[in-house]
Amino acid sequence: MAKGILFVLSAPSGCGKTTLLKRVMADLPGLVFSISHTTRAPRRGEQNGRDYFFVNRKEFSAIRDRQPSGFLEWAEVHGNLYGTSRVEVERLQAAGLDVILDIDVQGAAQVRAAADPVTIFIAPPSIEELGRRLRGRGTEDEKTIALRLAGVHREMQSAGVYDYFIVNDDLDEALESLRCVLIGERLRRRRNRAGKTIELSLDTSGSSV
Ligand code: ADP
Ligand code: 5GP
Repeated sequence: MAKGILFVLSAPSGCGKTTLLKRVMADLPGLVFSISHTTRAPRRGEQNGRDYFFVNRKEFSAIRDRQPSGFLEWAEVHGNLYGTSRVEVERLQAAGLDVILDIDVQGAAQVRAAADPVTIFIAPPSIEELGRRLRGRGTEDEKTIALRLAGVHREMQSAGVYDYFIVNDDLDEALESLRCVLIGERLRRRRNRAGKTIELSLDTSGSSV
């Protein structure tokens, strides 16, 4: 069975990445989301094992410090630790599933060095709109929102090294762009992986094809 593709999605917090991911995964079979570990406290409505595995710093360090590390990548983002389980990603890819990692720019750089991902950067239409979305979501206090907005310029500086760049202005347009990237990469990679001409059994008896 062909190994699944690894997709890496990065975006400044509040950009709409979770919204886009939920919608795109609902109608693309064979695409799964890798659930990260984090030391951040759950937000209202978040569930352990569905949105994240919520762990404390001691538990996080124990996974990170195994030999080899239990994390394919990990990073400190906005004062919290986040990491991607290595065995889980390998298990899903080995089952032929395409895996999406929702990780920050530091984690994306580590995955780029260790694996062969397709990388996608989602940008907000403006900082002002990003602030409105974060406040509108109503899940963080002003201090946390300020911390997240302060990191946007740094994150945007990494956007140029990603394979794809999508601005999430109109949600439906951004969703369509993301779908096109995922489908296009599936077609491109599957062709390359096969490494030979596909045998077609065409009816050559005269009918036009
Ligand atoms: P992220 O996962 O990147 O932190 P979310 O998906 O939680 O962001 O989106 C943050 C907020 O912005 C949510 O309230 C969401 O409904 C809203 N949102 C997402 N995309 C758009 C868009 N294109 N236009 C307007 N609001 C959006
Ligand atoms: P949030 O706290 O809003 O869910 O996520 C904050 C940031 O952490 C986002 O940029 C998100 O992509 C990133 N993030 C989530 N999980 C991981 C992970 O496993 N590794 C890394 N490096 N970043 C992550």
